[in-house]
Amino acid sequence: MRLKGKSILITGGASGIGLATAGRCLEEGAGVVLADLPTSQGVAHAKDLNGRHAGRCLFLPCDVTATDQVDRLIADTVKELGRLDGVFNNAGIGGMSLAHAYSDEDFLRVIDINLIGVFRVARAALRQMYPQGSGSIVNCASILGVFGQTMVAAYSAAKGGVVNLTRTLALEAAGKGVRVNAVGPGYIDTPLLSGLDPDVRQALIDLHPLGRMGRPEEVAHAVAFLLSDEASFTTGSLLMVDGGFTAGKS
Ligand code: NDP
Repeated sequence: MRLKGKSILITGGASGIGLATAGRCLEEGAGVVLADLPTSQGVAHAKDLNGRHAGRCLFLPCDVTATDQVDRLIADTVKELGRLDGVFNNAGIGGMSLAHAYSDEDFLRVIDINLIGVFRVARAALRQMYPQGSGSIVNCASILGVFGQTMVAAYSAAKGGVVNLTRTLALEAAGKGVRVNAVGPGYIDTPLLSGLDPDVRQALIDLHPLGRMGRPEEVAHAVAFLLSDEASFTTGSLLMVDGGFTAGKS
């Protein structure tokens, strides 16, 4: 079991990729804190997962746009699980608009959650991990962190920021026993994409050489690897889980 005895925190853990990663980390022997908005189904999911595996699973509410809540989340995770070995910085929202139609408010909301939220959680985690001298942080980027696409100005700006933030954090943390990496999912079948009409959905599928969208579990496998000691020489990397999307056009 590659995460045996480790304590892992997952933001946005009550749905989609985060929830699948929680299940995967528990299967690999970790204890897991699911963090998400208080309105989420996190309590029910944590209750469902807790007791199925050796490690505990519990829910802690946290809005990643609030620094005080994020700082408290890290402290409470350590209080509940005894330490903090890994963080999956996964909370995020979509947001579709042509750039010229974006309001400041809507643009900033995406940046606040998808980029600054990642920074807030990573900062609080590093403050815990540096004195420990160990830890692994995995940030959730996207194919849209390295590719542009119409209608996603705020989202792609945020995810591009996550990719390069990951590299800088990795350099700063390298001498302190802490690794920082990112995953770059292609389109993954989660509630985030539930509003798509069938034509748009098929067009997105066609962008993936493997001919389908990804499953949350397929991202979870990559995250579990990066959180584990098997990735001990991997830091500052962006691991694409994208069905070949970014490989090029055939
Ligand atoms: P989901 O919507 O299924 O899960 C995201 C979770 O984050 C939800 O529970 C959501 O709550 C929560 N969340 C939203 N805002 C906040 C906040 N302020 N504080 C804490 N939690 C919050 O989406 P996915 O599982 O698809 O997405 C997970 C990550 O993967 C995101 O970062 C996303 O950008 C990224 N990603 C997803 C892809 C996809 O195709 N699905 C592709 C590439 C990257 P609520 O439901 O209430 O909004």
